[in-house]
Amino acid sequence: MQFNRLRLTGFKSFVEPTDLLIEPGLTGVVGPNGCGKSNLLEAIRWVMGESSYKNMRGTAMEDVIFSGNSKRPARNMAEVALYLDNSERTAPAAFNDSDTLEVVRKIERETGSAYRINGKDARARDVQLLFADASSGARSPALVRQGQISEIIAAKPKGRRKILEEAAGITGLYTRRHEAELRLKGAETNITRLDDVMGQLEIQLVGLKRQARQASRYRNISSDIRKAEAIQLYLKLSEAEKAVAHERTVLDEIMREIGDLTKEAAHATRLNEDAVAKIAPLRQAETVAAAVLHRCNVEQETLDAEEARANQRRAELNARL
Ligand code: ATP
Repeated sequence: MQFNRLRLTGFKSFVEPTDLLIEPGLTGVVGPNGCGKSNLLEAIRWVMGESSYKNMRGTAMEDVIFSGNSKRPARNMAEVALYLDNSERTAPAAFNDSDTLEVVRKIERETGSAYRINGKDARARDVQLLFADASSGARSPALVRQGQISEIIAAKPKGRRKILEEAAGITGLYTRRHEAELRLKGAETNITRLDDVMGQLEIQLVGLKRQARQASRYRNISSDIRKAEAIQLYLKLSEAEKAVAHERTVLDEIMREIGDLTKEAAHATRLNEDAVAKIAPLRQAETVAAAVLHRCNVEQETLDAEEARANQRRAELNARL
């Protein structure tokens, strides 16, 4: 993999767009302490898909954006573009239609990173795989940072194996194997989950079958009950019709009796009216008779008193005689 050019905009101390041409042969960057030499290597690692802000010597990924100094305000965005030589057309098929591959990573405050390969949006994974296939990448031992040589010398066999694997050009395969393993694990988890779900569904199925049996029994029993109720209602209806017919006969008889009694009542009313009409002169006669009786009683009392007086006089006269 041949890098042609590195372009930084707003990345760490490189506030203005800066191009670093990487010509064939050995390229060196020389400068005083703190001038930004390590920032260039970090820019290369960052554009290759570095995901750890600690490896960028920051406390958050946004720390790679120019944070301002005494003369210039902070920026809101940083962008690094890495140009790769593809004249031999060794890039993956999806990006293999031009002589140069342009890989761009851009970060904006509170938005996060976005990648582009040859102007097309890409995922971090695509960029990481592109470099891994070429035995390079943000974590590749081919990129040596300060103090890393001594780390490699003191590294454990596993660490050294990584260097050998990169030399053999099989890092991409390992990355893919790791991805495939992750997918496999995901699939296994899904299968286990599906087994669980199927177990639950089977339990539900048993319950549902039982419910279906109960429902069909319920339907049969309900239909029997409906039939029995219909018969009962029919019997009640015919009994009620009989009772109505009987009651109608009774009613007719009663109506006839009422007719007779009404006639009798009318006759009695007439007789009563006649009697009332006859009572008035009789009452008058009674009053007259009562008055005559009263006068006769008074006269009788007077005559009785006169008789008593006459008897007393006769007794006196007899005595005198
Ligand atoms: P040394 O030779 O000591 O290792 P160096 O040349 O590698 O130094 P770097 O460590 O790459 O220098 O750069 C450090 C410089 O980058 C410091 O001056 C620091 O202020 C500046 N710097 C780092 N991050 C930012 C940022 N986000 N915004 C502005 N300046 C930054």
